[in-house]
Amino acid sequence: MNYIEGFRDPAVAKGIRSKVDALAGSLLARNRPVNIMEVCGSHTMAIARYGIRDILPSTVNLISGPGCPVCVTPTRYIDAAITLVERGIIVVTFGDMILVPGSASTLAECRARGGAVEVAYSPTRAIELAVANPDREVVFLAIGFETTTAPVISIVEHAIRLGLKNVSLLTAFKLVPPALTALLADPEIRIDAFLCPAHVSAIIGADAYKPFAETYKVPCVVAGFEPLDILYGVQGILEQMTQGKAEVVNQYARVVKAQGNLQAQALMAKYLEPVDAAWRGIGVLPKSGLGLRPEYAAYDAELKYGVTVELGAENPACACGEVLKGKQKPPECSLFGTACTPDHPVGPCMVSTEGTCSAYFKYLR
Ligand code: SF4
Repeated sequence: MNYIEGFRDPAVAKGIRSKVDALAGSLLARNRPVNIMEVCGSHTMAIARYGIRDILPSTVNLISGPGCPVCVTPTRYIDAAITLVERGIIVVTFGDMILVPGSASTLAECRARGGAVEVAYSPTRAIELAVANPDREVVFLAIGFETTTAPVISIVEHAIRLGLKNVSLLTAFKLVPPALTALLADPEIRIDAFLCPAHVSAIIGADAYKPFAETYKVPCVVAGFEPLDILYGVQGILEQMTQGKAEVVNQYARVVKAQGNLQAQALMAKYLEPVDAAWRGIGVLPKSGLGLRPEYAAYDAELKYGVTVELGAENPACACGEVLKGKQKPPECSLFGTACTPDHPVGPCMVSTEGTCSAYFKYLR
């Protein structure tokens, strides 16, 4: 059997859809339309790409949450990165970040003006550049959820081992569970269940969602990225709801373990500690990010260069904040597809390959 095609089998999809229809009908009979939030940008893309919204009953509403790490990073972070480039520092970043608008410019425009902005596919590129340019300073833009935190923090481990003093991190690491807690506390958002992220769960483990099931009585299903993974996830959520249950179900057990990746967790705990973090659209959430421990302050670009990363005013014309909280869908933004397109993005949700606006533009216009 072709492994991928096995997860895209139309006949199996039709069978799941029939079950989903029946379950949704049963819930509707109890006056229960369903809001399911996916909190993973790759899920958002897969849902749009495979047309999953279109085949679900109208009473099952898939809401995209703050699952794109680029999108939740505030404008001031981009401003701080541009400040570093303007001071002659080599700034290394994953590709999506260079097109995200800061207050006045983007890193791409900064590079066009002669700034040293290097797009990397691996964090180790920062180490290579620091070794090759001993008379220059190198800063890696350390954003992301739990998925990318461990590989990025390995920069510090490499730097210590090699005795490098000219490399540091501008950290804006985010933790998913505190964001879910904040969304559940928002009275303007009704979330009945979470389709839990796949990559993040591979690191933190499926058990990390138990508080949401046990305390908030919200069913949580960890699902993969193939269409049948997502449909099974929706079916599993609706089954729980019809039975009045709220549990954590791991339907992505081929990758995700209950306890997660203990090695990655240990690496993160060695160098990082929980800190309050600014989320675009959501605000500052207590202990929702990770920052370098004081003993590794020499690798903290914010301290080393006196730049600050905080929550500032965002472009008022851009509705990314509302999109990230699931309060608006991209077409409800007046700039969607007109002033804001992937070629000329106004907000990060249109830039990132995991952004909700980008997904809607690409697949759902
Ligand atoms: S369409 Fe563009 S301006 Fe509107 S919310 Fe999305 S990214 Fe922001």
